[in-house]
Amino acid sequence: MLEEELHRLLAEAIAELTPISGQKELEAVRVRYLGRKGLLTQVLRNLGQAAAEDRPRLGKLANEVKEQLEARFVEKGAPLATTQTSDDPARPRTDLSLPGRRVPFGRLHPVTQIMDEVCSIFEMLGFAVAEGPDVELDFYNFEALNIPRHHPARDMHDTFYVNDRVLLRTHTSPMQIRAMEKQPPPLRIIAPGKVYRCDSDITHTPMFHQVEGFLVDRKVSFADLKGLLAVFCQKMFGSTTSLRFRPSFFPFTEPSAEVDIACVICRGAGCRVCKQTGWLEILGAGLIDPAVFRMVDYDPEEYSGFAFGLGIERIAMLRYGIDDIRLFYENDLRFLRQF
Ligand SMILES: [Zn+2]
Repeated sequence: MLEEELHRLLAEAIAELTPISGQKELEAVRVRYLGRKGLLTQVLRNLGQAAAEDRPRLGKLANEVKEQLEARFVEKGAPLATTQTSDDPARPRTDLSLPGRRVPFGRLHPVTQIMDEVCSIFEMLGFAVAEGPDVELDFYNFEALNIPRHHPARDMHDTFYVNDRVLLRTHTSPMQIRAMEKQPPPLRIIAPGKVYRCDSDITHTPMFHQVEGFLVDRKVSFADLKGLLAVFCQKMFGSTTSLRFRPSFFPFTEPSAEVDIACVICRGAGCRVCKQTGWLEILGAGLIDPAVFRMVDYDPEEYSGFAFGLGIERIAMLRYGIDDIRLFYENDLRFLRQF
């Protein structure tokens, strides 16, 4: 009776063992048969009830079954332990001899670098930074800046229109109006940002960056403008940089000037970049036209001010000796990694 039970137990255990492929399952089966409350232990407890003359034989058989089972479990467990390490979170598979993984570092785009540099120079000179919308009303972009409908100056702008009243701003100058509408003088503001014109060649892209600057207070003169721009150019291009003002026309400034610096390549001797003139145009500027002040209810008899606008790509091209503006927007890493 007990003998039969032992044989049956062994056969069942072996049958259960055979298909097992994971260490956890194997351990569960082992506990069920060989554990302290396991099936084999229960059978052994009944040994005392057997007839006295049968006990040595049954005891021997029980021990053989137990040994055989234990051997089977060890045999089954050995290959699982080596092939199934991922089952066991206590055994990480990290190879400490591998080289570390590098995090690729990016860098700032050259246009962003120059933009930051220009802004920080003016911030150091006491200018606050203001930003405005790229999609602008015709009113702010043109009309309030003394460029009414059908004014010939509109032709210079190659504007992207959204509809009759809405457009992509063609310059950062609308921020003059937006800032002056909001607060009374004095003000000292720079407005950096993207501007858009329907134009594309080696010196023009449909989107480019400008920084607008303006200052309004009592008794502001052209000398103040000239002094400020001289400081800026010397900080940006070197302390020996000379500059000159050429008379020009903008509808929103009077008088107006275009500002040149001595060529950064040939230092004024004449070269291909400056077209043999020795000078490079870098910005437009002037005293704010009284007509603009009247648009925002500033009294032109009491206040005066100046404004200037400079192109960031133009400055970046001069700084880095780049002769095609389109390179900035092709996202070629071989180009961008140089800065
Ligand atoms: Zn030159």
